[in-house]
Amino acid sequence: MLIVYSKALVGAAIALALLNTTAFAAAETNQIRIAYKEPKDRDLVIIYEDMKERRVLERLQEFLSPFKLPRPVKFTFQSCDGEDDAFYFDYELTLCYELVDELQWAKPKKTTEDGVAPHDAVAGPFFSIALHEFSHALFQTYNVPVFGREEDAADQLAAYIILLQDKTIASRLIRGTAYAFLTESKEEESDSTIEYWSEHGTAEQRYYNVLCLAFGADPEHFSNLKSKKILPEDRADACQDEFEQIEDAYKAVILPHVDQALAKKVWGKLEVRTK
Ligand SMILES: [Zn+2]
Repeated sequence: MLIVYSKALVGAAIALALLNTTAFAAAETNQIRIAYKEPKDRDLVIIYEDMKERRVLERLQEFLSPFKLPRPVKFTFQSCDGEDDAFYFDYELTLCYELVDELQWAKPKKTTEDGVAPHDAVAGPFFSIALHEFSHALFQTYNVPVFGREEDAADQLAAYIILLQDKTIASRLIRGTAYAFLTESKEEESDSTIEYWSEHGTAEQRYYNVLCLAFGADPEHFSNLKSKKILPEDRADACQDEFEQIEDAYKAVILPHVDQALAKKVWGKLEVRTK
């Protein structure tokens, strides 16, 4: 009886393994679909044309092509009734023209003392936000179990993917992202609109989180974050552990779904304009 039971178990295990193989066999690279919807608002039409001309979605499509997905994920650029937002729902990712408008409005007029160039203050957060939303898609696709807030996990995965890139580019994107969080946190503070109840961290927390991961990834390259006390010492000292925790999670649940040869090729091509 025991033997029969074991055989049944083995049979079930084989069936499950086959099922899994089938499921993963169907996963393919180049699964990002894109669309630009023309907005009605004239100010946003300028952004729509600019985004199309710069092939922003096409570049995102290429950047994300190494992720092996069993079904396509669609990125749509559109007007969102005045909301400067980006969101994900069920394999559909929306990026709002208003978000780009807001980032362009908030960028510094010239390079800041901390070395954040105007363009980086737009490209950094835009790329981070797109990756954050795409992280939700990855969690759903791969059934990633998440302890803690999924919004934090999406921020972490987005920052981690950026930190896998060329150091100079990663540094510019991360600092640009941090700049946007800091600007947002100042606005939240002056308007008394800090949403402690939100499923997201506050902008100020997200600012420190992204800097901590960068510092944890490469304390030498980002040494000024600690030496200039941008990141308080008490937090800075824990950042390498924080980074390693995320790296372990990435290697366990995301990396097996990345076509590494393709990633090497397309991620190596990542460029961020300097003007
Ligand atoms: Zn989110």
